[in-house]
Amino acid sequence: MTVEVNAQLVAKNIHDLQDRLAQLSQDRDVRIVAVTKGFGVDAPRAALAAGLTMIGENYAQELVSKHEELSPAERERIEWHFLGRLQRNKVRSLAPIVSVWQSVDRIELIDEIARRAPGAKVMIQLNLSEEPQKGGAPILEGPALVRHARSVGLDVVGLMGVGSAGDPTDSAAAFGELVALADGLGLSERSIGMSDDLEVAVAQGSTMVRVGTGLFGARAPRDGV
Ligand SMILES: *Cc1c(COP(=O)(O)O)cnc(C)c1O
Repeated sequence: MTVEVNAQLVAKNIHDLQDRLAQLSQDRDVRIVAVTKGFGVDAPRAALAAGLTMIGENYAQELVSKHEELSPAERERIEWHFLGRLQRNKVRSLAPIVSVWQSVDRIELIDEIARRAPGAKVMIQLNLSEEPQKGGAPILEGPALVRHARSVGLDVVGLMGVGSAGDPTDSAAAFGELVALADGLGLSERSIGMSDDLEVAVAQGSTMVRVGTGLFGARAPRDGV
């Protein structure tokens, strides 16, 4: 089940968010990944029409089916970012499509991506909330995963993290830790901040926010998630 989006409203939301980000970051460049999970192919289309090209998805099958519905010209422009918990056996079907693998959090996934998509751009996802059911590696394992990914030829572009649910200010310290670690490892991208906590994330040094509901509205509930 998918919810329809209103392309005009999405364009307005995108422009408003761009203005807000410019203010919050004092004109430092903070880019937007439009997160289209739970919406149909009209969501990435609306984002593209409004000038965004980085589109994020959490589920392999949903990403592949949206990709297949797009025209060749649209596919050409889109840069798909994979954000969700990733099973090793899904890497193969995603490899020809995904541009940036943001949710890489373990050795076996690094090795499989290196095998199926040599030299691909990846981010190492850190578990900032320390809730074990959430994706991401423990912060302490971040440096070793970055080194491993580099050693097998992947292009490690940054670190990714999801703030804890609840009061966004609770995530400030963990966002700051991720940014400091990225600095120490020479990684330029810090993918932190979603609809509800992007302000805190940008204040801590986010270079990339991942925004779904803030652009497209409420998602359809997903069975079993
Ligand atoms: C769903 C999701 C987002 C977008 O969340 P919103 O609250 O809709 O902005 C960003 N990042 C990840 C990893 C997600 O799963």
